[in-house]
Amino acid sequence: MRVMGILDGKKLLIVGVRNRRSIAYAVAARAAAEGAQLAFAVQPDARGEENKAAALVAESFGGAAVSQCDAANDDSIIGAVNAAAESLGGLDGLLHAVAFARREAIAGAYHEGASREAFCEAVDISAYTLTGFAKAALPHMKNGGALVTLSYLGAERALPNYNVMGVAKAALEASVRYLAFSMGPAGVRVNAVSAGPVKTLSAAGIGEFGKILAEVERLSPLRRNVAADEIAAAAVFLLSPLASAVTGEVLHADAGFHITAGLAGAE
Ligand code: NAD
Repeated sequence: MRVMGILDGKKLLIVGVRNRRSIAYAVAARAAAEGAQLAFAVQPDARGEENKAAALVAESFGGAAVSQCDAANDDSIIGAVNAAAESLGGLDGLLHAVAFARREAIAGAYHEGASREAFCEAVDISAYTLTGFAKAALPHMKNGGALVTLSYLGAERALPNYNVMGVAKAALEASVRYLAFSMGPAGVRVNAVSAGPVKTLSAAGIGEFGKILAEVERLSPLRRNVAADEIAAAAVFLLSPLASAVTGEVLHADAGFHITAGLAGAE
C-alpha cells in the first residue's frame, strides 16, 4: 500500500528546469515522489527556438505538459501558466527557479561590472518574473495555493562576485513579502527558500564559485555544503499543506551558514 504523500493531488507548475543539475529538477523529483502532478515551463534555447534538451528532462516525469517560456515576455509567461492549468485541470502551486545576470555583472567589483542595462535585466528576469508568474497563476488557484521561489544569502549580505544578482535577490525577497500580503486574502501563500550554494549551470557563471563552496564547508554550523535534494525538501514543505500557516517567509536551507559572522567556531 502506498503511503500518502504530502503533495498528494496537488497540481504544480515547475519553472526553471534546464538540466538534471537544476534545483528545479530536484524539486520536481521530490514533489513527484510526494504525489504532486506536474507541468513544466522551460526556457527556449539561445536562438529562441524550442529547447528540446530541457523539454526532455522535464518530460522524464511521465507525460507532464511542458511549455517553452521566455520569462522576459509577459505573453509567454501567461501562455505557459494557462497551458499548465489546462493540462492539469487547475493549479495549486508554482515553483519559480529563474535567474539571470550577464557575466560581467557577476564578477569582480560591483560598481565596475554594473550598468543600467545589466542591473535592470537581472532584476527583471530574477525578481519581477515571480510577480509575473503569480499574477498569471492567481485566476487558476481557485482553492488557494502556494508559490515558492529560490533566493540566496546575497540578498541580505554583501558577498564577493554576487553583485547585481544580490540586488535582484533583495528585490525578489521583498516581492515575496508583498505578494504574500496582497494574495493572502485569496488563500495564496508565497515563500522563498534561501539556498546554500550548489553546483549548477547558473552557479558556474558566478566568479570564484568554488571558493564559496569551500568557505561554507569550513564555516557553516553543519560544516558541509547542502545537496540540491535538501533544498528541494524545504521547497516541497513550503508548497505543501504542512506549511499552511507560513507565508511571506524566507527559509534558509544552507547548513546554517547565514547565522554565522564568517568566523570559524569550535571544532
Ligand atoms: P539553473 O541554471 O539550472 O536554473 C536557472 C533557470 O533559470 C534555468 O532553467 C534557466 O532556463 C532559467 N531562466 C533564466 N532566464 C530565463 C528566461 N528569460 N526565461 C525562462 N527561464 C529563464 O540553476 P539553478 O542554480 O538551479 O537556479 C535556480 C534558482 O536557484 C535561481 O533563482 C538561482 O538564483 C537560485 N539559487 C541557486 C543557488 C545555487 O548555488 N545554485 C543558490 C541559491 C539560489
